[in-house]
Amino acid sequence: MRIEKDTVVSLQYYKLSNLQGEIVDESTSPVSYLHGGYGGMFPAVEAALQGKEAGYALSIAMEPEETFGEYDSELLRIEPRNAFPENVEIGMQFEGGEENSEDIMIYTVTDVTDDIVVVDGNHPLAGMALQFECTVMAVRAATADEVSHGHVHGPHGHDH
Ligand SMILES: [Zn+2]
Repeated sequence: MRIEKDTVVSLQYYKLSNLQGEIVDESTSPVSYLHGGYGGMFPAVEAALQGKEAGYALSIAMEPEETFGEYDSELLRIEPRNAFPENVEIGMQFEGGEENSEDIMIYTVTDVTDDIVVVDGNHPLAGMALQFECTVMAVRAATADEVSHGHVHGPHGHDH
């Protein structure tokens, strides 16, 4: 069966690496997504897998705008130290709202001094060109429920 809109694609393995060849994300078990622009997979990967079958191995280079976006220096914030818990340290994450937006942003602490805390609202992989590699394990037609929900059910999928 070929990959087309409203098929469930199961990947045996996927790996994201940066230009230095370091792995920044990889699967530890098979993953499935609903193909056809439901937001379950990078659009560039979906486009490259369109029409392919089980067994197909993909390796694709993606620019930041195709993955986690360009790095936005405006999302780097300096906040007063007393606005954070006593034990705040580098690497901690906090939720925060962007002004004039209802989106919840995740801010990661990147520096702490006696007076200030620097937080970064960019995705940790923002601004990076990334190489995505995967192998297609299986392709099946999605059920009507899956299409209406916009995600995969069953093994490796969404559990209700
Ligand atoms: Zn569902």
